[in-house]
Amino acid sequence: MSENPPTVPHWIGGARVEGVGGTAPVTDPATGEVTARVCLATAEEARTAVASAAAAFPAWRDTSLARRTQVLFAFRQLLNARAPELAALITAEHGKVLSDAAGEVARGQEVVELACGMPHLLKGAFTENASTGVDVHSVRQPLGVVAVISPFNFPAMVPMWFFPVAIAAGNCVVLKPSEKVPSAALWMAELWQEAGLPDGVFTVLNGSAEAVDTLLTHPDVASVSFVGSTPVARHVYETGTAHGKRVQALGGAKNHMVVLPDADLDLAADAAVNAGFGSAGERCMAISALVVVGGVAEDLVARIAERTVGLRTGDGRRGCDMGPLVSAAARDRVTGYVAAGQEAGATVVVDGRGVEVDADGEGFFVGPTLLDHVSTDMSVYTDEIFGPVLAVLRVDTYEQAVALVNANPYGNGTALFTRDGGAARRFQNEVQVGMIGINVPVPVPMAYYSFGGWKSSLFGDTHAHGTEGVHFFTRGKVVTSRWPEPSGRAALDLGFPTN
Ligand code: NAD
Repeated sequence: MSENPPTVPHWIGGARVEGVGGTAPVTDPATGEVTARVCLATAEEARTAVASAAAAFPAWRDTSLARRTQVLFAFRQLLNARAPELAALITAEHGKVLSDAAGEVARGQEVVELACGMPHLLKGAFTENASTGVDVHSVRQPLGVVAVISPFNFPAMVPMWFFPVAIAAGNCVVLKPSEKVPSAALWMAELWQEAGLPDGVFTVLNGSAEAVDTLLTHPDVASVSFVGSTPVARHVYETGTAHGKRVQALGGAKNHMVVLPDADLDLAADAAVNAGFGSAGERCMAISALVVVGGVAEDLVARIAERTVGLRTGDGRRGCDMGPLVSAAARDRVTGYVAAGQEAGATVVVDGRGVEVDADGEGFFVGPTLLDHVSTDMSVYTDEIFGPVLAVLRVDTYEQAVALVNANPYGNGTALFTRDGGAARRFQNEVQVGMIGINVPVPVPMAYYSFGGWKSSLFGDTHAHGTEGVHFFTRGKVVTSRWPEPSGRAALDLGFPTN
């Protein structure tokens, strides 16, 4: 442990601002070393952050779209040039391997590129002569100060699902990143400044529940975009909406991959390994339940097990396939679930507990773990584990597989593996999940579509980015206008206006 780790401050009014409250340790999960201490905002500091954003809003709202998007283009250029720096910061605090961190930056960058097209996305409609001499047009205007609260597992991409669209649309953003991985947000704040964003338009407020709760109840915060676990998402949605805010709160997940007997089993096995163990399973779109239909389970499980043999677990900077979990608590939670599954009768086909790792120090590692003969009442199935654990459930028919997926309270992502187009078409129609992959295991929508799940995976009705994102960060107005002829006068008519 370094003697005097640096502090990760807030970013308010275009400058680093040291906190006045407590701090929390930031850890390198591959070594277990405390590398920094992050400021935990007090309610007063949260109010200062909102006040700074609110003060910047009128000028930013009135800045021309051309100028606003120039700043977005500049941010994109800088991010392209310096993406490896950001990826390295992500790996150092989250633990995911460098290539995965670079991938998350690239997916976030796609949203920046979407937001560069804001002049087109904000175009309203115009109707000439809706009634004789009467025209109607619509506009969309920014909300004001918008809050973004993000989880630990995507320190750059998840904030980027929201802030490029929000900023391009003319809002001022207060980002409250996860206290486990705070440095990426601060790095991006400095990049915004370099790109020419006026001070106060992008604020980083570090902290935890106290900071969040202040944002949720603050009268000057117009909306809240949250991503995290389901209990906190529900709390954020209920509190934020009770205080009159627009809220989109994305929660946890349990994503099923259904494999039909006609599927290409090598393709399915590759997909299960990539989607189950990539980023150590700490993705909200990770596959954690494999539902195998008919008699192919034995064969598929063997092919998956075979593929885990060569996987290297270790420090994400050393070219390994899989990094550590984010914390010692996360590691213990995951191994606890594996033990509970084993106790309840699941077969541990591949055991990641005590995996040999390529790392120095005391990192938080669990290797790829494959559990077979899992049933729907086991905690390894009912709970979101958020680790590299794949649970295999066997069913006899397609109908049983869909019923199983639909009975689950989560509905973030799902995938079907088959060669049967009719089955695929039926699946995408019947399954109660927001994002569906057909022979694609992690079906994260492109930036120009919208990202979001159903049921306990999303509270609110607006998904992230795409046209729904633009809609979320703007408010509509419709203007009905009449310009009388110079000599004309309107007739008196107290009836209801019709055409
Ligand atoms: P978390 O819910 O613990 O934390 C998320 C954010 O909420 C953090 O900024 C944290 O500081 C804050 N927070 C935590 N407890 C709080 C409380 N009691 N009151 C107010 N704020 C609080 O989530 P996490 O562990 O950082 O992230 C992992 C979770 O996020 C998983 O459940 C994962 O599925 C989910 N996730 C979902 C999506 C999605 O798109 N649906 C994407 C990424 C992650």
